[in-house]
Amino acid sequence: MTDNIMVILSSPSGVGKTTLTKKIEQKYQSFKLSISHTTRSPRSNEVEGVDYNFVSNEKFEELIEKDEFYEYAKIYGNYYGTLKKNVDQIIKNNDIIFDIDWQGTKQLSKFKNLNLIKIYLITDSKKELKKRLIKRNLNTEKEIENRFNLFDEDIKHWNDYDYILINKNLDSCYKQLENIINNEKKTISFHKAV
Ligand code: 5GP
Repeated sequence: MTDNIMVILSSPSGVGKTTLTKKIEQKYQSFKLSISHTTRSPRSNEVEGVDYNFVSNEKFEELIEKDEFYEYAKIYGNYYGTLKKNVDQIIKNNDIIFDIDWQGTKQLSKFKNLNLIKIYLITDSKKELKKRLIKRNLNTEKEIENRFNLFDEDIKHWNDYDYILINKNLDSCYKQLENIINNEKKTISFHKAV
């Protein structure tokens, strides 16, 4: 049993999750980002093995068959999942951040031996979310609409999280995230020591 922590950051697309996770990883050497497997096609700015491990549908289903995932989900018609092997390796020496959705969060929560901290990130309004999705210019109009429409489903699962963070201002949201992480780390070390 390690006192390294696993931080899950979930949010509707476009809220700033990727920026925040990358900022944490850059500042805290102890943190590694969990690189998921997906069957979605890479975007022009994405790098294999850095943003995702991009695999075929067949390969993904083979990994499901072999029970290789801690969690996986079908989102917007594509599979996304976290390999057990990768997490078990990283957690020996590092803290981990997961950028996964509510379905994956539910599945990971079943593993009671993991030091999980579950954080849900939102914008302060639906209107703001749509603005950001359009501004980041990574999706087609249809994809933006699909992602926006999933917001209502997504927020039904807030109850499964330990913290809800509102990303109105990136800097203050980042500070809050840092505080949560540092406090949780202290608490876990304290419990281990007593
Ligand atoms: P995107 O296609 O925009 O990169 O990601 C779409 C959604 O998939 C995001 O909400 C992201 O958090 C989620 N996601 C990414 N990787 C995983 C994963 O390994 N498992 C699960 N359950 N969700 C993931």
